[in-house]
Amino acid sequence: MAPILSKVLVLYTGGTIGMKLNENNDLAPAESGQFENSLRADPNFNGDSIGDYVGSDFLSLPAVTNERRRIIYKIKQHDKLIDSSNMGISDWNLIAKRIYDHRGDYDGFVVLQGTDTMSYTASALSFMFENLNKGVIITGSQKPIFETRSDGKENFISSLIIAALYGLTEVCVVFGNKLLRGNRTVKINCDSFASFYSPNFPPLGSIGVQIKVDYQRVIRPKSSDCLLTEMNTKTICLLRIVPEMPETQIRAALEEPVVGVVLQSFGAGNIPSDRKELLNHLKSAIDRGVIIVNCTQCLRGSVTEDYDASAGLRGMGVIFLGDITMEAAYTKLCHVLSKDISVEKMKMMMRTNLRGELTEN
Ligand code: ASP
Repeated sequence: MAPILSKVLVLYTGGTIGMKLNENNDLAPAESGQFENSLRADPNFNGDSIGDYVGSDFLSLPAVTNERRRIIYKIKQHDKLIDSSNMGISDWNLIAKRIYDHRGDYDGFVVLQGTDTMSYTASALSFMFENLNKGVIITGSQKPIFETRSDGKENFISSLIIAALYGLTEVCVVFGNKLLRGNRTVKINCDSFASFYSPNFPPLGSIGVQIKVDYQRVIRPKSSDCLLTEMNTKTICLLRIVPEMPETQIRAALEEPVVGVVLQSFGAGNIPSDRKELLNHLKSAIDRGVIIVNCTQCLRGSVTEDYDASAGLRGMGVIFLGDITMEAAYTKLCHVLSKDISVEKMKMMMRTNLRGELTEN
């Protein structure tokens, strides 16, 4: 009997997972095609050919124990493989467009990229898609997959299996045996294989002897009409408050052409409120139509409305984003500012929980 096939599209953008040492002994993306060729030749990643897919563009994952379905996958690589430190809006748009265009052709999607900006990509994609009805799993590794000791094999194979077989409908990060909501992640460790953390939201699943998914938490599409909003480039700044911050830096972060600001404040949303010039610069920016959102510098917890030291911000209309991560706040602003809607509507969208990125009180 012919096996039931699950198809995955793998978008390979670069990152350590496919890197090799260059002539300077630095890790850099391997030559074009090398990643796919290595996987093709490795029986761990490419097993027997299945039915019509003999000799096709697809690779076949060896059979998974106790699973009748077989996973086949196609790798589509970015024209230029990059370190994720170089990724930005044009890359997010390209990835999102490829997923959108092929949304009917595959059972799930895996995005391979570097870890440095993985949380930004995961957050950005989560906002760009509305009513996503497939799993988009973003992964990579801390050691190249070509090395004898690497987390790449584990992360990649788990991602393929989850994208193909687990019926997810949101953008997730799979890393270090965890399945996490993408827009809740932060990179917390550049030494460990457990690099990602979801500080304010429990994992969506765990990858151990069994893969377990907490389906109660998975976001489901509200309609069958999957929509994509591409992003356009806007000047958005991060203003991370430090004690004794120079006024010139504050002014530069708020002046034209800036249209959006992520204010990363102390603790539960506080700033040095005795610094009247700081408040004045923030107020003039808001009067000019700049959207300013407030999130905490703490790894866990929320900005609240509890302290006198945040009263000035609240009074002038800074938007408090609860327990959102800085990465999600930044990419949410990129998304909302790409919409053709009024500033008031943009502010309302910023306050609203769009894709599970913040906990509503
Ligand atoms: N610098 C690398 C990148 O983000 C790190 C990694 O892949 O983990 O592309």
